[in-house]
Amino acid sequence: MMDKLVAQYIQEELERQQNGLEMIASENFASMEVIKTMGSILNNKYAEGYPGKRYYGGCYVVDKIEQLAIDRAKELFKAEHANVQPHSGANANLAVFLAIMNPGDTFLGMDLTNGGHLTHGSPVNISGKYFNVVSYGVNEQGFIDYDDVEEKALKYKPKMILAGSSAYPRIIDFKRFKEIADKVGAYLMVDMAHIAGLVAAGLHPSPVEYADFVTSTTHKTLRGPRGGLILCKEKYAKDIDKAVFPGTQGGPLEHVIAAKAVCFYEALQPSFVEYQKQVVKNASVLANALMEKGFKVVSGGTDNHLMLIDLTNIEGMTGKKAEQLLEEVGITVNKNTVPGETRSPFVTSGIRVGTPALTTRGMKEEEMLIIADLFYKALFEEGKHIDYIKEQVRMLCEKFPLYA
Ligand code: PLP
Repeated sequence: MMDKLVAQYIQEELERQQNGLEMIASENFASMEVIKTMGSILNNKYAEGYPGKRYYGGCYVVDKIEQLAIDRAKELFKAEHANVQPHSGANANLAVFLAIMNPGDTFLGMDLTNGGHLTHGSPVNISGKYFNVVSYGVNEQGFIDYDDVEEKALKYKPKMILAGSSAYPRIIDFKRFKEIADKVGAYLMVDMAHIAGLVAAGLHPSPVEYADFVTSTTHKTLRGPRGGLILCKEKYAKDIDKAVFPGTQGGPLEHVIAAKAVCFYEALQPSFVEYQKQVVKNASVLANALMEKGFKVVSGGTDNHLMLIDLTNIEGMTGKKAEQLLEEVGITVNKNTVPGETRSPFVTSGIRVGTPALTTRGMKEEEMLIIADLFYKALFEEGKHIDYIKEQVRMLCEKFPLYA
């Protein structure tokens, strides 16, 4: 028996991915090996517990797989301990919260509208509902205001300081965060979900030596399966493992953990460093080309894989409208708030643009210049060049095939 409808929808989604320019900064195209591993018979196995200490029989094979993923994660990030079970980035963050805080405790996190993540203390998330959150943000130029972080830390004496973001285009100074945390005796937690691939490749300073806890997703710049990861010092290993299982999760997803092992293997290869270098180069070339065409790029550029475009200098343009206009011509981005935002999060005044996925397809500087021109035509000269842009997108996708 075959479910034709789901198969048809998967085919439809494959064609969407193949025939468009994917520029959502948090997305990527995992290798076929990662995808196939996630779809393997490992799905069938229950394995509550950890390698060698399971609550189910028949775990001697998945024990080897999970241990391999742990060992490779530790090697890749030079970490003392790794937990590869979190089902997602949000779960990884929640487990760290459970391990070190009690409801009502205070922590410092980056504000969502300034680039932080939902799980860093948003009032609609458990992180904001169960804990007392003090938010920090960026200055008018779009850079993290470290002096403000320090002032707030001294004033509110948080139990933990959370660094890391979803929409910050600059290098994060983890050393400074550590110095601030040490001044007030707070734990330092870093959520490196967005930049994990860059960190693995040595293109962004690693938080591992400074932070007590590092969380990540494995599906963004790291280009693995959808999932989460926690790294920590050995002295916290037991507490973290307990907080993941049984604290916040049940049975681990061993098919996804196996795919994480494949992802870490791929990230340990020299070609991965070359890939990440190109991701960063592409982002920098694209940001510069966009600025030359009159776009306002927040903070005047980017150091990593993403940029924020402030659209307030284009008459009548909002983030929502830009997202729609670009989607119509086959370019996928997401609307995003910008520093000093005046519109609601559903409308916004900006878009977030990233290069990881296009770089996986093999695109380089030359293509970034073409894309900057397409952005200009789509947003500054709205409606005038729709057929031309669609044709350019089609040509780029044909030249750089995906899952061929
Ligand atoms: N942390 C950061 C910084 C993120 O950007 C994201 C996702 O966008 C997450 C955590 C959450 O990851 P997930 O969607 O896997 O729960």
